[in-house]
Amino acid sequence: MLQIKNISFGYKNALVLQNISFNVKKGEHLSVIGESGSGKSTLLKLIYGTYDLNEGQIFWNDTKILGPKYNLIIGPEFMKYVAQEFDLMPFTTVSENIGEFLSNFFPKEKQKRIIELLEVVELLPFANTKVKELSGGQKQRVALARALAKQPELLLLDEPFSHIDNFKKQSLRRSLFKYLKEKEITCIVATHDKDDVLSYSDIMIVLHETRIIANNSPLQLYNSPENKLIASFFGEFNVLEHYGLVYANQLKIVKKSALKAIVCNSYYKGNFYLIEAKHNEQIIFIEHPETLKNGLEISFSVDKNLK
Ligand code: ADP
Ligand code: MG
Repeated sequence: MLQIKNISFGYKNALVLQNISFNVKKGEHLSVIGESGSGKSTLLKLIYGTYDLNEGQIFWNDTKILGPKYNLIIGPEFMKYVAQEFDLMPFTTVSENIGEFLSNFFPKEKQKRIIELLEVVELLPFANTKVKELSGGQKQRVALARALAKQPELLLLDEPFSHIDNFKKQSLRRSLFKYLKEKEITCIVATHDKDDVLSYSDIMIVLHETRIIANNSPLQLYNSPENKLIASFFGEFNVLEHYGLVYANQLKIVKKSALKAIVCNSYYKGNFYLIEAKHNEQIIFIEHPETLKNGLEISFSVDKNLK
C-alpha cells in the first residue's frame, strides 16, 4: 500500500502542495485531477522521490521514499514514472528502448517480453523502427511499454495519453488498464481527461489551491459533485436556483413548465445538440436531440436523477 502522510512541498518559497494525505491499496488505480498548474506532476514526482519534502512522509509498504538529499539514485526499483516529457533513446529501435533495462542473459525471454509489451501498446509493426522516426503519440506508447518492461509494483503516469490521437486512445486505454489490473500493478494517473477516470479509476483525488478538495470514487464524485470545479471536469453543467449543480443532460426541454429560456445557439455534438439558452439573465446548457432556432422560447424541467 502507498501511504502519503501529510506532505507539503514548494519549489522555492510558496508551497505548491500542502497537507496532502491519501492511501492507495495494492492493485488500485487512483487518478489525480486538477487545473493546469495545480501540482499534479509535482505530486507524482514527489512520490517518485525526485525532490525532498518540506514536511510529511511517503511510504510504499514499509519502505520510506527518500528524496535526493538521502538517496543517490532517484526512483526506487519497484516504481516507474512516465513523465509528461518522456525521455527515450532516439537513435535506437522501439524494441531496444523497451528492452533497455532487461537482462541480456535470457535473450529468448527478453524477446518474448518485448513482444508482449509491444502488443499492449499496439506497436508491434514498429518493433524495428528507430524512435526518432516516430510521432509524438507513438513515442508516448514506447515510454509506457518501457516503464512496464521490468514489471513495477507502482506505476506513475503523467497525462499518459496526451499525445495520442483519438483513433488510438480508446483501445490503448482499454488494453493498458486491463493489463495493469491483471498484473495487480498499482497505478496513479495524473490527467485532465474524464475518460481516463470514469471507466478505469477506483478513486479520484482533486487538487485545488495546493490542497486535496475531494477524495472519492469517480461514481460518487460524478453523481454528487461538491463544487463547480468537479462538475466542470465531467461535463457541461449549470448552477440553478433551488437545484444547485445540474449537468446539461439533466435538463429536459418539455411542452409546459414554469422554467423558461430563450435559445441562443445549438452546438452539434454527434449524439446530441448542446443548446445554449438564456434563463433569467443566466446562460444555461441543455442536451437535446435536435437543433433549435435561435430566439425560440423553450420550457424545461430539471431531473437530477437523469444519467
Ligand atoms: P500540473 O502538473 O498540475 O500542471 P505542476 O506540478 O507541473 O502542475 O506545477 C505546479 C506548480 O509548480 C506550478 O505553479 C508550476 O509553475 C510550479 N513548478 C513546476 N515545476 C517547477 C520547477 N521545476 N521549478 C519551479 N516551479 C515549478
Ligand atoms: Mg503536469
